[in-house]
Amino acid sequence: MIINGVVMGLEKQKVCRKCRRIVLEDKCPACAVAEFSRTWKGVVLINDPNGSEIASLLELKVPGKYALWVK
Ligand SMILES: [Zn+2]
Repeated sequence: MIINGVVMGLEKQKVCRKCRRIVLEDKCPACAVAEFSRTWKGVVLINDPNGSEIASLLELKVPGKYALWVK
């Protein structure tokens, strides 16, 4: 499921540079780093990383919301 980040009003959210997770906290809950980008495009929702083709494609192992592209 891919949603346009601008349409969803998510453009002000920050994205972890390491795993591309959309993060609301001060550091990424998935990989515990605090390096973020605000330049990103596309949203992918991962509910079940083990059963998701896109999760394995993006090498995502934790359920959540991720950006498809991060600068
Ligand atoms: Zn991360």
